[in-house]
Amino acid sequence: NRWFSVRISVLGGFVTGVSSVLLALAVQKNLVSPGIGGLLLIYALSFWTYLNWGIRVFSDIESRMTSMERLKFYSQIPPEKGHSLEAPKIQEWPRKGEIVFENISVRYAEHLPLVLKGVSFSIQHGERIGLIGRTGSGKSTLLQSLFRFVDLESGNIYLDGREIRDVSLPELRKNLAIIPQDPVLFMGTVRSNLDRYNQYSELEIENALRASSLWDFICSLNLGLHHPITENGSNFSQGQRQLLCMARALLVKAKVIVLDEATASVDVQTDIIIQKVIRENLKDVTLLIIAHRLGTVMDSDRIIELSQGQVLDIWSPKDRKTESKT
Ligand code: ATP
Ligand code: MG
Repeated sequence: NRWFSVRISVLGGFVTGVSSVLLALAVQKNLVSPGIGGLLLIYALSFWTYLNWGIRVFSDIESRMTSMERLKFYSQIPPEKGHSLEAPKIQEWPRKGEIVFENISVRYAEHLPLVLKGVSFSIQHGERIGLIGRTGSGKSTLLQSLFRFVDLESGNIYLDGREIRDVSLPELRKNLAIIPQDPVLFMGTVRSNLDRYNQYSELEIENALRASSLWDFICSLNLGLHHPITENGSNFSQGQRQLLCMARALLVKAKVIVLDEATASVDVQTDIIIQKVIRENLKDVTLLIIAHRLGTVMDSDRIIELSQGQVLDIWSPKDRKTESKT
């Protein structure tokens, strides 16, 4: 502001000075009468205030228009294929949660190399799968392709025998639940975060919250289920946010739940709670757990090891345990 005020005064002074000299010359040569000359001088003196005001208004409008510019930008982003704004209907697919990855290859953009190269395996109903592999081996990409965040280059993914390419995005994503490492909550209330389309009763929400051991905490809040959640859920701790995501997954009764290193950044206590919730409430659900620590997935049914976008090994921790004993 100071920089601006100094420059404007100097510029205004310069303009006024030059016009005074020119006016004086013009009056001397009888081009302008002295009265008019005086009048013009008075206006020239106040020139810098108008200039100051004009530039401030201009920059103010420009900064306000930034939001318009952003809206215009967002309105021009091409929508995802198979998108629809209607709330997905509750229906009977999928019943079991069997997933088949059939020779899938994925790349993020045409000029980039393949990230997944012909990955094939199948997951049975109610199975608990641990996904391991080094950093950059394609674990998250595999899950992103299941949610159709990235399109497949070739191959197919079947969920209960139905090719997911043929399912509309809201329907597909409603039936899959994800508990990400960095859980996402939206601005609103606890209730609106759990039940976005107002489809469930208070009792169902209470049960889901009880199952994820959050109910006591929610009851301790003044407004209970109507407690406001700030942007990104910053008024909840990381662990509480993950438990809320867990409650959301339990509420929608998703048949497939994906945990992307969900317990990597919470304390031991929350880790134990989450593991307990998984063991007790998700018996009938197909679980895909990405883990960096083997301990997290040691009690899963099978472990799939990825390396550089390919399946390196599929084994069962139980067999390994008996092998090591013998
Ligand atoms: P981590 O264990 O570190 O989470 P990851 O196995 O989940 O690793 P991915 O996130 O699947 O690894 O990434 C696999 C490869 O895909 C990496 O080589 C990465 O560079 C590339 N990749 C990931 N996301 C993108 C993206 N949005 N655009 C381009 N390339 C990407
Ligand atoms: Mg990852």
